[in-house]
Amino acid sequence: MHRFALYTITGLSSLVVLYPGPVEGEFQTPHPAAPVYEFQNGRWFDGTRFTEVTFYVEYGTLVTHRPAQVDSVVDLAGGWVVPPYGEAHNHNVEDGPALPDLIHRYLEGGVFYVKNPNVLPRAVHALRGRVNLPESIDVSFAFGGFTGPGGHPISVVQRNVERGTWSDADGEGAFYYELADEGDLDRKWAGFLANRPDFVKAYLLYSEELEARAQNDAFVGWRGLDPNLLRELTRRAHAVGLPVSVHVETAHDFRTALEAGVDEINHLPGFRGNEENRFPDIESFHLEERDAVRAAEQGVVVVTTLGDFHLLGDEATAKRARGVFRHNLSLLRDHGVILAIGSDGYGSVGVDEAFQLLDLDVFSNLELLRAWAEDTPRAIFPFRRIGHLAPGYEASFLVLDRNPLDDFRATQEIRLRVKQGVILDGW
Ligand SMILES: [Zn+2]
Repeated sequence: MHRFALYTITGLSSLVVLYPGPVEGEFQTPHPAAPVYEFQNGRWFDGTRFTEVTFYVEYGTLVTHRPAQVDSVVDLAGGWVVPPYGEAHNHNVEDGPALPDLIHRYLEGGVFYVKNPNVLPRAVHALRGRVNLPESIDVSFAFGGFTGPGGHPISVVQRNVERGTWSDADGEGAFYYELADEGDLDRKWAGFLANRPDFVKAYLLYSEELEARAQNDAFVGWRGLDPNLLRELTRRAHAVGLPVSVHVETAHDFRTALEAGVDEINHLPGFRGNEENRFPDIESFHLEERDAVRAAEQGVVVVTTLGDFHLLGDEATAKRARGVFRHNLSLLRDHGVILAIGSDGYGSVGVDEAFQLLDLDVFSNLELLRAWAEDTPRAIFPFRRIGHLAPGYEASFLVLDRNPLDDFRATQEIRLRVKQGVILDGW
């Protein structure tokens, strides 16, 4: 599925370039020779409850009318069928020896969709033919993220250069793009688009202290993009059909992202305290009702990403962090903000994040299942028919032994995995 958009390179005002659009879904065509299946005796999740219905799978798509020819009948024996889960924030899908095991762990956990917001372009180009296939996970990539001079994630690059695993060439123009002014955006935008990203990633860090942090070397790595540049970046991204995801640290960042018109916010404010891993002022992390109202009105997705801060450290601080998360999540939930689940944990496939959210006692099992199996996949691939089990949707689903609305742990008791009409085996 290709989408086409026209955009103009600023500074070359008469030149109009045909941009081929995001690569999302580009090589995800189901096998044309895949057998036609009939799935009997399943209880299928319709977004609210489980109902007994027979689904057929034809050309990788769910249908309810019986196709002229059925090659194989599968008895689901009363199993509970849900859409596969998503991991809306992880940097771990990249080229390397660990990739096969990582893909296996994702599929094992029922996590079929992954969003990688910031990754080295050279670590992704070798993934062609290994992800975004019916038998593998589907991944969307932002490539390098946009930040301010000396902003996050510059320290990640410095650390890897010191270790000898990366070179200086992996910094500016690869893992990140520093924008000091609009002229920088003019110069760098076309190079960014040349990677054919699925979405744009940008960083806000303590935007309420933009000036002070810009002038103080102590804050290298703890700075982000100028909010005015975020607004312009978002405008240009939307003009070529790319959604924008923004990293936030504080409630002010959250508000600033909403004002810029972004599509997705990554992290809950306070996910790692301040630069000293402390919570000196809880109020700077507390969202207000107007923030939740506006996020809901604008249809902005909030990717939870609790981090592990509330689990580690001293118990008093962890307790404060949990209090902040409960406050923010309850507010977002009560106002109907779309929530997606993403761990941002390199060793994780997102399953632990879902269970940490459960442990916070904010959500019902139904709310969490919807977030994980419906809203997260859609947040990762907003242009695909996924996250729902109905005619015309991709034939991707998990069959569980027990009802996950009774016990959320059942989400991990997976007896069958089907992706785009292909029965995955090996478990
Ligand atoms: Zn991240």
